[in-house]
Order: sequence, then C-alpha cells, then structure tokens
Amino acid sequence: MRILLVEDEPRLATQLHAALTAAGYAVDAADNGRDALYQGEQENYDAVVLDLGLPLLDGLSVLRRWRSGGRSMPVLILTARDAWHEKVDGIDAGADDYLTKPFHMEELLARLRALIRRAAGQASAEIACGAVVLDTRRGQVTVDGQALVLTSHEFRLLAYLMHRRGQIVSRTELVEHLYAQDYDRDSNTIEVFIARLRKKLPPELIETVRGLGYRLVCPA
Ligand code: CA
Repeated sequence: MRILLVEDEPRLATQLHAALTAAGYAVDAADNGRDALYQGEQENYDAVVLDLGLPLLDGLSVLRRWRSGGRSMPVLILTARDAWHEKVDGIDAGADDYLTKPFHMEELLARLRALIRRAAGQASAEIACGAVVLDTRRGQVTVDGQALVLTSHEFRLLAYLMHRRGQIVSRTELVEHLYAQDYDRDSNTIEVFIARLRKKLPPELIETVRGLGYRLVCPA
C-alpha cells in the first residue's frame, strides 16, 4: 500500500513518515499544496493524509481539485483543534475521514487501515483467502494459524493482493502501489517477490494470469 503524506510542519511530518513506514506503507511526502496536488494527480495512492493548512495551496483546494478531476482515493484530513468548520468543509470537499490535531498516531493508523479496507470493499479487519489470513490491525499474515515471517516488501505485496483477492492485478499496478516515488524500482522486480512469496504460501494461491498479471485464488 502506498500513501501520500501531505504535512508542512517538519516535526510532525517526520513523525508521520516514520510511523507510516514502520506500519509497512510505502510513503511519498509533500510539504506544500502545489506539490501535493500534482502528486495526487499523477500517482495512484491507496490513501492520502492531508493537512489543511499548507503553503502555496491550501489542503481544501487541493482536495476539491482532486475530486473534480475524478481522483477518488481515500483522503484523511488533519484539521486544527476547535476548527469544527474545517471538518464540515473538508467532508463537503470530499474527505473520507478527519483527525483533529493533536492526535494519537495509533488512531491515525487505525483510521487509515479502515479507509483502505473500505475502499477495497472489505468491512472486516481480517481478510481471509482459504487458510491464509491477513490481520490488518497487527500487520501479520497467518497460514493455518501459523504466523508467516515476511520481509516488508513481501508483506506489502501480499497485503495488496489480499485486499484485491480474486481480482487480476497487473505488474504495473503492483509497482505503483508498492514503492515510494524515490525508490529504485528496477532493483527489485515484482517477479522476484512473487517467487519468494510462493515459497512461503500454499501452492496455487498466487495464480499468474498470462499477459495480465496475478490473481489470488481463494478456495470456496
Ligand atoms: Ca499545516
């Protein structure tokens, strides 16, 4: 899962970047509205954390322009304390959720997980595919109740496929959603991670759909 983090306050931005990375997300950051607008238009994010008070272009304008341009990714806005009108304006502008500063990092992570799940049509915090279960709260995958040991890249890839189980996911889509912008994408091809995951998972779980990509096949 790939997140766009838009926050101009350096200390909070650093804390958020570290927490999101530790939670297993690929993170792109912007510290002003103009860059945020561009990145949100050009890249495909699984969710956006958007501060409203930003230099160059305010967060509400950024959000309105994304929505009017047809960008539908989940957006969690960060609003100033006691500014209830910001929440109303933000939701009217197309925000999916909000948090009031200061907030607890755990709450932000929980709300993000819920937004990403709902966007993928998953209501529950646990996503199952046969014997394989992804616990989105703990960031853990089990097979028949046994925890899998996965690298962060393997986890990100499997979590993405689990959110879209049964659907064909192209390599391009995987690259877009697994790596941050500044990451050297060539050095770690998707095929390598798929091969590693297959060794750790039940056979036949990850199907290669020739010319199209991959599909997680869940037994009925
Ligand atoms: Ca700000």
